[in-house]
Amino acid sequence: MKRIVIKVGSHVLTEVGAIASTRMLALVQLIAELKAHKYEVILVSSGAVAAGHTLLPLDRSSVANKQALAAIGQPLLLKMYQEKFAKFGLLCSQVLLSADVFDSGGHIKHAKVAIDTLLENSVVPIINENDTVSVEELVFGDNDRLSAHVAHHFDAQMLIILSDIDAFYDKDPNRYSDAKRRAVVSEISQDELEAEHTPNNEFATGGIVTKLQSADFLMKHNREMFLASGFDLSDVKAFLVDGEHTGGTLFKKL
Ligand code: ADP
Repeated sequence: MKRIVIKVGSHVLTEVGAIASTRMLALVQLIAELKAHKYEVILVSSGAVAAGHTLLPLDRSSVANKQALAAIGQPLLLKMYQEKFAKFGLLCSQVLLSADVFDSGGHIKHAKVAIDTLLENSVVPIINENDTVSVEELVFGDNDRLSAHVAHHFDAQMLIILSDIDAFYDKDPNRYSDAKRRAVVSEISQDELEAEHTPNNEFATGGIVTKLQSADFLMKHNREMFLASGFDLSDVKAFLVDGEHTGGTLFKKL
């Protein structure tokens, strides 16, 4: 059994403010297929705030409203996952973590016992940051770094990030048409890790920096990361099921 963590971002999971049901189904189908190929899969999923907003359209610009929307949306998100996993005869489960869980060895060990037990029973754990109780300074703020910690502490060999971008490029492909895909990356420079997200920085637009920080953390802990498209799952499927690296970026220490 090979244990992997799959992280799906809110860009992939939502469409015009609502949960993109067809894409969610494609993701669930992929997980069902991976389980049939002897993978143990832990899912890290965003989308609670967007799901909550479909039920109660509060203004998302305040932190308090976002916390409230997460509380409203999380059960709806899980209900949608449950219905989709049931189509494949699978059970899923909800595990909400806050960043401080990773600081004290004790808590995370308890969580790992629960995760191991769920996986032994073929149940898919669906993890999200517990936005409703997270104190501002503790918040990971993005599920990229949360999922890297999840992969490390729950002993997964690889983190798969399904993004709105299909790979890591030598520069932002949304701004430079001559950007080239990097198929394998074994080292990330300090400049790349610290790049600030400013409009003039050709490198650090979007959320690529948190993805590089996650990849760096995992490589330092002898784990791997694969970044691929969450809109078109053919690259990640080819990589995990057929062992063919046709698209996407593999972050792996030499
Ligand atoms: P997610 O869908 O996981 O939330 P983000 O939108 O946060 O992803 O981050 C991906 C974005 O990062 C891409 O859409 C792209 O515009 C931007 N980006 C900036 N630099 C790069 C790069 N070197 N390679 C790939 N994407 C990059």
